[in-house]
Amino acid sequence: MTDAVDRIRVLIVDDEMDIRDGSERILSKMGCEVLKADRGDKGLEILKNEPVDLVLLDMKMPGMDGMEVLNQIHRDYPDILVVVITGFATVETAIEAMKKGAYDFIPKPFEPDQLRIVVNRAWDKLRLRAETLRLSEEKRRTLIDLDTEKSRIHTILESLPSGTAVTDNKGLVVLMNPAFKRHFSIPTDRPLGQAITEYVPDSGLNDLVMDISRGRHVDFDDIPVYEFSLPNNKHFMANAKPVLGDNNACLGAVISITDISTMKILNKLKSDFVAKVSHELRSPLSTIHEQLAVVIADMVEAAPESDKQILSRAKEKTFSLISLISDLLDLSRIEEGVICQEIKSIKVDELLKDIVDFLQTRSNTKKQSLVLELSEETFPEITGDAIALESIFGNLITNSINYTPDGGSIKVKVDLAGINIRVQIIDNGFGIESKHLENIFERFYRIKNEKTRYITGTGLGLPIVKELVSSFGGIIDVDSTPGHGSVFTVLLPVPAQT
Ligand code: ADP
Repeated sequence: MTDAVDRIRVLIVDDEMDIRDGSERILSKMGCEVLKADRGDKGLEILKNEPVDLVLLDMKMPGMDGMEVLNQIHRDYPDILVVVITGFATVETAIEAMKKGAYDFIPKPFEPDQLRIVVNRAWDKLRLRAETLRLSEEKRRTLIDLDTEKSRIHTILESLPSGTAVTDNKGLVVLMNPAFKRHFSIPTDRPLGQAITEYVPDSGLNDLVMDISRGRHVDFDDIPVYEFSLPNNKHFMANAKPVLGDNNACLGAVISITDISTMKILNKLKSDFVAKVSHELRSPLSTIHEQLAVVIADMVEAAPESDKQILSRAKEKTFSLISLISDLLDLSRIEEGVICQEIKSIKVDELLKDIVDFLQTRSNTKKQSLVLELSEETFPEITGDAIALESIFGNLITNSINYTPDGGSIKVKVDLAGINIRVQIIDNGFGIESKHLENIFERFYRIKNEKTRYITGTGLGLPIVKELVSSFGGIIDVDSTPGHGSVFTVLLPVPAQT
């Protein structure tokens, strides 16, 4: 068969020249390519060398009989359609030919239109056959592609370095890759189908996975990264997300596990080192600071002004170093979890009154107004470490004093917002450009510009504040307009009343 069905090749085998040539004219006009043979054996010879789609075969020819030719075509070229031309013969011949595999017949003599109809019918059949072939080939390809895709995904999953597990919408594990099994020493042949806690003994992870699998997390950005440790001193980080099907229906969860044990050890080593160095440096520096203070105080009036300035500068620098070291020590203590140890009930409004009173002197020297505005008569108490809370608001209010020019105003506003006590430190100071906003909570990040140039600091205040706020289960946010001022908002959750 030829490849194209828009143009077919027809072989006319007939001993009558008029029929051959007449049919050729009609078929050529229909867009067929025509080959001709005046005898059966010659027709078969052509078929050996030429691709042909359709044969118009006269049944009554001298030499090889049409039925014999039909038999051979049917046997050797089963795809070729044969339309038999039944000369004077009877309907029986036609029927017999059809039984032997002819597709159609046309009685002789025939009108051009009759020939067109019969050939068009055969042509349609060829088109249909080509289309069926194309579709089944496409289906076969799709299946092969699917199979390849499936095994590719399987291979990727198997070789993923991070542990991956998948659960169904009941929270039962349906897949664990080798890395996942290695992380938790799960035997490779351990059957699937149980809750994740049966494979990883951590109830927090189980709760998270159950919640996600059952579609309880609507907003995916809300899903926390979960860290947990096992008794063998291994630390892991779990990222879990829902697997969504059609119409966003939750089909289960996919959990990716990273072993962070080495990171934890390194981090601890680093914190220990910082804590140790800071600790070792603090005492000698404090001594130097005190001694400089004594020398400056004892300096005689007549001492050269330049000497006095050098010593004062040295004293200031030493003081900055001591502050930096104190902040570093605070941070390492927070990381160790030892700064928030004395847990008790705190009256936030009273604590803020004390801090504002204490910092009043500092704001007065800059001729700033510092006021506390309390919205409620009584605020619920919160539970936590009072020193940590002092550190939070002490730092934030001190920042406002530092980064607000002389004569500016600072307001500490306290009210209730839902289940939280909301404390806002509002100043009309320098403000912060938006490009810095997401960085100011990073360690050592300080904004350097004309206005902040002479303000000393360590860049550790806000990171400390952030850590402490989250130790209360709270959040901190900042809103600022350069040239107009900043608002730092702290939300501290109030324990549910019983
Ligand atoms: P430090 O004050 O020691 O530099 P912080 O971590 O407390 O470090 O603050 C980081 C930076 O954020 C500061 O250097 C300052 O530029 C900016 N900043 C903090 N609070 C304010 C504020 N209330 N107004 C303007 N800028 C502020």
